[in-house]
Amino acid sequence: MTVTESKALIEVRNPADGRVVGQVLNESSDIVAAKVGELRRHQSEWEAIGARGRKKWLLKFQDWVLDNAQHINDVLQSETGKARVDASFEPTVTADLLNYWAGSAEKFLTDTHPKPHGPLGKVKKLTTVYRPYPVVGVITPWNFPFLMPGLDVIPALAAGSAVLLKPSEVTPLSAVEFIRGWTDIGAPPVLSLTTGYGETGAALVENVDYVQFTGSTKTGKLIAKQCAERLIPYSLELGGKDAAIVLADADLDRAASGIAWGGLFNAGQVCISVERVYVEEPVYDEFLAKLTKNVDELRIGQDDRGYKFDVGAMATHAQRDIVQRHVDEAVAAGARVVTGGKAGNVGTFFEPTVLADVDQSMSCITEETFGPTLPIVKVADEAEAIRLANDSVYGLSASVWTGNKARGQRVARRLEVGAVNINDIYSNMFSFALPMGGWKESGVGARWGGASGILKYCRQQAITAPRIPTQQKELVWYPYSQKKVNLALGLMRAAAAHGLRRFGITPKA
Ligand code: NAD
Repeated sequence: MTVTESKALIEVRNPADGRVVGQVLNESSDIVAAKVGELRRHQSEWEAIGARGRKKWLLKFQDWVLDNAQHINDVLQSETGKARVDASFEPTVTADLLNYWAGSAEKFLTDTHPKPHGPLGKVKKLTTVYRPYPVVGVITPWNFPFLMPGLDVIPALAAGSAVLLKPSEVTPLSAVEFIRGWTDIGAPPVLSLTTGYGETGAALVENVDYVQFTGSTKTGKLIAKQCAERLIPYSLELGGKDAAIVLADADLDRAASGIAWGGLFNAGQVCISVERVYVEEPVYDEFLAKLTKNVDELRIGQDDRGYKFDVGAMATHAQRDIVQRHVDEAVAAGARVVTGGKAGNVGTFFEPTVLADVDQSMSCITEETFGPTLPIVKVADEAEAIRLANDSVYGLSASVWTGNKARGQRVARRLEVGAVNINDIYSNMFSFALPMGGWKESGVGARWGGASGILKYCRQQAITAPRIPTQQKELVWYPYSQKKVNLALGLMRAAAAHGLRRFGITPKA
């Protein structure tokens, strides 16, 4: 979509045909502060109903998402121009996330009673309590406008936080639907929306207690600085340049199908899209031919409800222009367009593209493209593939394609990325029990990962309580005396090191 500059309103357009499909407010920092204040008023009650009480609302919301999936898909397509199948994943995966967090939150949030670290601690009952940050701010990008809120808003709500969602100014309408659903089911007013540009996002950061951000590395760095200034925690899910490594012993048909989908799903606008392919020299030509055939067969166009097309439009003209620049610069530097390579005649379409004879210095390898291109690099062997895959400022995820299980595991453990899929694409993204987080400039922290995905929205509180009847005074309390101190420190020394051999003070010669 494109955005019309306006002080009060943001106009939303379908990028496939330029039609205006809606508008939202460009909200000021005062409005953001007022919304956070309102959420704060309702949060304690939300926390108090406990994980079981919240589960009821999350499952009601799940029903709403499933009942309204067709409409959600319509809205998604209207503001992104994506293919119907690509849109359809969003409410479906959101329903799965609601199921996971609603079903697991109670167990994950249960107090824990760690074993004391030494014998003296046994006189105390130790408890760690997980209490939510009152208001979590979730800032999302434009590539999955309904699913992105689902990824992070749901675990924060399940933790007991109230949430203010700030969607991208490019695609705010699906987030409007997300909030409408929560309101329609009559859920407590602990989730609200603020719309606007970057300034609105900055105002959110200024007011909330925790920031969950997904977007570009450039914006992520600004947010990290602002959070540091306020001493509030944050988690950043940023850009990527995912490598696929195709080894000579791979099932090349599977690799060529998986990589075509992994690079071109959602018109390549996925943080974990395949953006670089390293192929071992003996299978380079064969793999390239198979991949090109797959890409040639794709149908590109403006979809309706009929699942007619495989690849839709790109979300913005600016994004499409980056793709064109990367292709042009690669060709100027000696790469070859095997298929695709050009923008479409209407809207923001770009032909699914395979680039061959690419080298590591080209911008299509060094910069995030976020579009439907697959640059292919020939490598001598596994070691070179690993070295080149790691030669990036990004470290989000990667895939390895091999017929040898042990080799797949070995290569995975040498890649400097937050996730590796062996002989598959995106499967970590559908595994909520695993952490999804970027290394290097791809992020700080992670989403999901079982309990840690909900505990990140909680402050840990340590509580100690006596296990045995207490005396009027503890040994180390005032007044000090030689006898008491010798006994207390002796016990502490014995507990800390080598037992009774260290009970008494050994004078140094
Ligand atoms: P972006 O950084 O331009 O914008 C993301 C969001 O941040 C938008 O809502 C925007 O309004 C807001 N924003 C902008 N400036 C801000 C500021 N100063 N303070 C607070 N908020 C501000 O990113 P984008 O172009 O919308 O999204 C594409 C990027 O997102 C790509 O780099 C992609 O890799 C990344 N992404 C990462 C993941 C992941 O999980 N790692 C997932 C999807 C997308």
